[in-house]
Amino acid sequence: MTQSAFSRADGALQVEGVSAASLADQFGTPLYVYSRSALTDAYKAYADACSGRRATIHVAVKANSNLAVLNVFARLGAGFDIVSSGELARVLAAGGKAENTVFSGVGKTAAEMREALDAGVKCFNVESIPELHALNEVARAAGKQAPVSLRVNPDVDAKTHPYISTGLKSNKFGVAFADARATYAQAAAMSNLDVIGIDCHIGSQITEVSPYLDAVDKLLDLVEQIEADGTNIHHVDVGGGLGITYDDETPPAIGEFVRAVLAHIDERGHGHREVYFEPGRSLVGNAGVLLTRVEYLKPGEEKNFAIVDAGMNDLARPAMYQAFHRMEAVEKRATKAQLYDVVGPVCESGDWLGKDRELAIEQGDLIAIFSAGAYGFVMSSNYNTRPRAAEVMVDRERARRVREREEVKQLFAGESIFPD
Ligand SMILES: *Cc1c(COP(=O)(O)O)cnc(C)c1O
Repeated sequence: MTQSAFSRADGALQVEGVSAASLADQFGTPLYVYSRSALTDAYKAYADACSGRRATIHVAVKANSNLAVLNVFARLGAGFDIVSSGELARVLAAGGKAENTVFSGVGKTAAEMREALDAGVKCFNVESIPELHALNEVARAAGKQAPVSLRVNPDVDAKTHPYISTGLKSNKFGVAFADARATYAQAAAMSNLDVIGIDCHIGSQITEVSPYLDAVDKLLDLVEQIEADGTNIHHVDVGGGLGITYDDETPPAIGEFVRAVLAHIDERGHGHREVYFEPGRSLVGNAGVLLTRVEYLKPGEEKNFAIVDAGMNDLARPAMYQAFHRMEAVEKRATKAQLYDVVGPVCESGDWLGKDRELAIEQGDLIAIFSAGAYGFVMSSNYNTRPRAAEVMVDRERARRVREREEVKQLFAGESIFPD
C-alpha cells in the first residue's frame, strides 16, 4: 500500500505529491483529479482477496467511465460491467475486452444487444421475460447463441438510501425471486440463449456484509433448484454496491468483504463455482477529488454562503441524494474558520454541495471536495449551459489531463435554427 494518495505538505493539499493548487492553476477549475495509485490499490484489494479462487472483477463502468480510469483497470486485467452500448464503446476504446465484459441494465435495446453480441460480450445480465424474448430474437437473427444470466431480485434490504437500494421487491430491477425458477426454465427452452449464470445487485453504498450474505443464500437456494431442473449454472455474480467512507461510515474493507462472500459460498458447498464481483464506487470513489474555487463569500443573517465555481451540474450527488462529501480548504489560511453552506452558481435552490461546513477560506481560495471519483463527473450535465469540467490523473508526481474542459461552442454545435 502506498502512502495516502491525498496528503498535506506544509498545510497544502497534495495528490500523490503534486500540489492541488498547482493543478488548479494549470488546468483551471472546477477540476476532477484522480489518483492512479488509489485506483490501483483499490483494484488490487479486490484481486488479492480473489487470488487462488475462480473469481472475476468486473469494474462497473458507470461509476467513472473516463478512458484513462478504465485503462488503469484494463492494464490490471480487470473485466467490466456495462449498462449501455456507449459504455461498451468506452471499454473497447480504453483497452478492455468484450469477452471480459458483462452487460447489465433493465432497458437494453435490440440495437444494443446486437452490438454487444457482435462484439462478443461474456454475458448478458437479463432483467425480465420480455428482455429474454428480445435477446433470443436478436441472437437468432444474428445466427448466434447469447450467453445469459438472470438478474434475480433477492428481496433483501441493503440498508442504504432508497434511491440507491435496488434489491427490494418494490423496485424496477431484476426478476422477482418467486418467479425466478420458472423464468430460468423459460430461458433454458429458448433456442438462441445459453444460460450460464445468475446475478443480483442489491444496491449501492452498502456498509455491511450481512445483506450480501442474505442475497447469496437466496441465490444459491435458487441455483440448487435450477440445477435440479437440468440447467447448469456456471457463475454466481454478486453485483457491486460496497460502500465507502464519505463521512463517518465504516464499511468493511474490500478484502474483508470479498473474503466473507467467498467463504460463505464455500460453506454452502458452492466453492467450485466462479464468482463475479461488479464493484464501482468502492474502486473509484475515494480516488477522486473535485477542486473548486470560491467566487464569493456572502455572509447572511442565518447562513454564510460560500459561492463556488462548481455546481450541481458538476457534482449532482448532494442535490440528488442529499449526499455528504467531505470538504477542506486546499491551503491553510490564517483567517478564522466559519460555518458555510457551500453552493454553486446554478439557478436552483437545490444547487448546494455542502451545508454547515467549517472552513477557513477567503474569496479566490480553493476547496477540495473529497470522495468525488464515483458518480461525480459521469453524472455531470450542461445545465445552465455550463461546460463540463476537465479531468486530470496524477501518477507519482506526473499529472496528465485525461479529459479537456468543454468549450461553450461545443455545447450547441449540434443545434440549428429555422431558416426563416
Ligand atoms: C451500478 C451497478 C454496479 C456498481 O455499483 P457500485 O455501488 O458503484 O459498486 C454494479 N452492478 C450493477 C448491475 C449496477 O447497476
